[in-house]
Amino acid sequence: MRAEMTWFPVSLVFMQYVIGIPFLVKAIHANYYGGYDVDNWCFHMIWVTIMRLTLSQLWQIYSRLHGIVKKHQISTVGFTFEQIDREFHSDDYIILQALVATAAHVWVPGFRQLPLWDSRGLVTIILLHVGPTEFVYYWLHRALHTDFLFTNYHSFHHASINTEPPTSGVGTFLEHVLFSGVMGIALAGPVIFGGASISMIYLYCLFFDFMKHMAHSNTEIIPITLFKAFPLLKYLLITPSYHSLHHSELHSNYCLFMPLYDHLGGTVNVKSEALHARLREGRAEEVPEFVFLAHCVDLLSSMHVSFVLRQFASRPYSARWFLYPFLVLITPVMFMMWAWGKVFVAYKYTLDKFSCQTWVVPRYGFQYFIPVGLNSINGLIESAILEADKKGVKVISLAALNKNEALNGGGVLFTDKHTNLRVRVVHGNTLTAACILKGIPEDVTEVFITGATSKLGRAIALHLCRRRVRVLMLTSSQERFEAILKEAPKELKRYLVRVTKYQAGINCKTWIMGKWISHKDQQMAPRGTHFHQFVVPGIPEIRKDCTYGKLAAMRLPTQVKGISTCEFSCERGVVHACHAGGLIHCLEGWTHHEVGSIDVDRIDEVWEAAMRHGFSAVY
Ligand SMILES: [Zn+2]
Ligand SMILES: [Zn+2]
Repeated sequence: MRAEMTWFPVSLVFMQYVIGIPFLVKAIHANYYGGYDVDNWCFHMIWVTIMRLTLSQLWQIYSRLHGIVKKHQISTVGFTFEQIDREFHSDDYIILQALVATAAHVWVPGFRQLPLWDSRGLVTIILLHVGPTEFVYYWLHRALHTDFLFTNYHSFHHASINTEPPTSGVGTFLEHVLFSGVMGIALAGPVIFGGASISMIYLYCLFFDFMKHMAHSNTEIIPITLFKAFPLLKYLLITPSYHSLHHSELHSNYCLFMPLYDHLGGTVNVKSEALHARLREGRAEEVPEFVFLAHCVDLLSSMHVSFVLRQFASRPYSARWFLYPFLVLITPVMFMMWAWGKVFVAYKYTLDKFSCQTWVVPRYGFQYFIPVGLNSINGLIESAILEADKKGVKVISLAALNKNEALNGGGVLFTDKHTNLRVRVVHGNTLTAACILKGIPEDVTEVFITGATSKLGRAIALHLCRRRVRVLMLTSSQERFEAILKEAPKELKRYLVRVTKYQAGINCKTWIMGKWISHKDQQMAPRGTHFHQFVVPGIPEIRKDCTYGKLAAMRLPTQVKGISTCEFSCERGVVHACHAGGLIHCLEGWTHHEVGSIDVDRIDEVWEAAMRHGFSAVY
């Protein structure tokens, strides 16, 4: 059941929260319509659930903020789509515990009519947690590592060797029930001995979650100096590196939050202290060989960054309904990034021995069309190139609008200004052109192309003319057409034909769209036309009697590792052709910059290299 659920649309995740509707109705009725809810229980259950989910989300964001965590990261190997899918239901336990607590509220006499605050209860909880809760958890956890229980139950949690905060909530139903019972030990204390309150539920649940998420955060955040100043603390406080050894080596470090019980039980991993010390010393900065320099697309797609919603980012982007409320948060963040934003690392992966990162210019698509902001965008791109150069990155590939002709001449601005760059600046469009060209069947003798004098349009037209394909180039500029015509071999010039109206394509079944096209103009294409395209965003697919190609994209070779984020709307493991183009440049060790116009002579060479390295085109 769990495996099938992982492929449900993301929005169906919210279906489980339907269970909260009766709570919400009761809370609204009790607080605003004169109803009665003893101690306002439903209201508090909703808030404690929201706060627990928010805490979990904040830990998730923190653990993936590369700039902050990179120095003390436990595992630098990226995560996988399989792990993200397996951990899809990592928040289930929060709902279960709200239901269990509500049942106790109904049936357990001392757990009703709770005051908001009673300090006596907090002392009882601390004592019970340090004693029975930690003790019971330790032995329960050891029991879960015996053959039968591990194979049938606990192995699911341990399937994630490298952990992220959500891993802490991953378990089988039996484990959720048992661990809820363990939490109940401390909470039952004030009920039995007096001092129970609503606040103790908030505080204990949030404390419990905070510690669990910290232990799985994949970042050693506890300073070693703290343990040196208070030596006994090492018995009282778990660290992320301590629990990471439990995941990587299994039969040690079983404790909940207090290593004391591992010391008493003789199950402390001897490497714990050394690993803690080594991680706190800090890792040397990881220098990638390859960087893909992307930018934000639109406001909603901000939620598709891997450190924001990792589940959502692990699927191809589309503007879903549940993103709209986040505009309230995204809009001020956009303005803050506009004012103070710096290029940041979004995600990383490895291909063979090459380490690759995607960096993001903190500007949205629409900002590339505001003339007053263009210098600042070029400044950000330039700073990224210089930083890559300083660090020793081999290739930096400019994505989408970062290589816009009008902005920086396809990267020429930077290579002209900095003539001694060691890093190679690449627009990757040679492979984009190759992808489009290889998608045009060999037997095609005529094509109709718009955006014909653009960087890609020019390269496609010239390459097709060499194949003796007649190219109908829609352009209003005779001058630009003639400049391209000059580049064609003399005996093949007749294959390039300038046209000025869409009607010129009415008998041609291969249309290559490099510009936006109106619905009316699309009607000019004959029945059965295939629309290839290199226009962003893609053209509307309104013709039922025609077919539409996708933007040029390539599937990464199978050796790719540590990738758990989809590149915008691309499928898993697929990247835009220009991203792949930069990678090929790096893998081949080419020493030239690939900036400005596309070198038509190199199109076949780049394609063959892509095939040799195991890339494949996605149409
Ligand atoms: Zn375990
Ligand atoms: Zn764990």
